[in-house]
Amino acid sequence: MSTTIKDLRAEPLDLPLKEPFVIATGRKDAASNVLVRVELADGTIGWGEVSATPYTSGDTQATAIAALDHLRPVVIGKDVRSWRSLLAETRRHLRFQAGAHSGLEIAVFDAFGKATGVPLWQLFGGVKAAVETDLTLSLGTPEETGTAAGRAVRDGFRKIKIKVGMGVAIDIARVIAVRAAAPQCELALDANQAFTPKQAVELAHRVAAEGIELSLLEQPVRRDDLAGMRHVREHCGVPVGADESVFSPEDAIRVVREGAADVINIKVAKAGLAGALDIASVARAANVDLMIGCMMESKIGLAASVHLACGLGCFTHCDLDSIYLLRPFACEGGFTLRGAEFSVEGITGGTGITYEPH
Ligand SMILES: [Mg+2]
Repeated sequence: MSTTIKDLRAEPLDLPLKEPFVIATGRKDAASNVLVRVELADGTIGWGEVSATPYTSGDTQATAIAALDHLRPVVIGKDVRSWRSLLAETRRHLRFQAGAHSGLEIAVFDAFGKATGVPLWQLFGGVKAAVETDLTLSLGTPEETGTAAGRAVRDGFRKIKIKVGMGVAIDIARVIAVRAAAPQCELALDANQAFTPKQAVELAHRVAAEGIELSLLEQPVRRDDLAGMRHVREHCGVPVGADESVFSPEDAIRVVREGAADVINIKVAKAGLAGALDIASVARAANVDLMIGCMMESKIGLAASVHLACGLGCFTHCDLDSIYLLRPFACEGGFTLRGAEFSVEGITGGTGITYEPH
């Protein structure tokens, strides 16, 4: 069969950042990613990428490569047109390893779409051909954060996400600096689990007291503290988002049952593409809004998220900004970028990524 998998390869993909990126749980100077290559019997190549994020998913570059090597005999000979059963089988063979599974899924979907002439955004629903992203600002002094916000406005961004978690007083000074530099932008905060519920509520109230409106307070408290998330949601006056709390559809159901969030942040790097589709179904059925985020993927991995966002067309928050944080990287296709807007118009199959490793 021409759409059966002939080979799976994983190799290091080290990508320098334009400048260090700091959040409450860690700091990155470079992205130690993994390039995933799936080859079909007809010669079609599907590309995927793992963004190894040890402090979020537990994956490192080395463990992701080992996990994908482990899965090679499981996928060889399988038909990518039966992607749902293929991917269920890989998850039965290897628990956890969210990043490795995600990189494999992206490559499998890309190969499927290229071999059959279906662009992924249409496979996922074809709702719209373009999405607009925000830009995320790293932890830093109020002056640094304000300067970065001014640069974001000049670069055409209309939505800004500010990483917080340095402490309520300094975070407020940073939010004020961003508002001054970007008076028209929609502002969201992401604490990456840094606060206690009480601190998170205090931060939201003090920001409101400055007359600054927020569109979202993402992952204010520890990932497993769903009661704390609900407390913040009930008292802070701002929509609360669950990111680290939701890796799987089962996590999403728990968040819904606990009333822990107004928004669920889906990332392909956490759930894979099949899991992302299932989480989206859970959230939509429960009237929970959806956000799509990313880790530190290059264009190769990010393209899958752009296609998912366009295809489903149901994300009220779009945070697909890794490509702006990495130094330019030689890889073609996937999408076209105009300012803050990604377009998948003209993609003829899969994510449309073409790549020639050096
Ligand atoms: Mg987040």
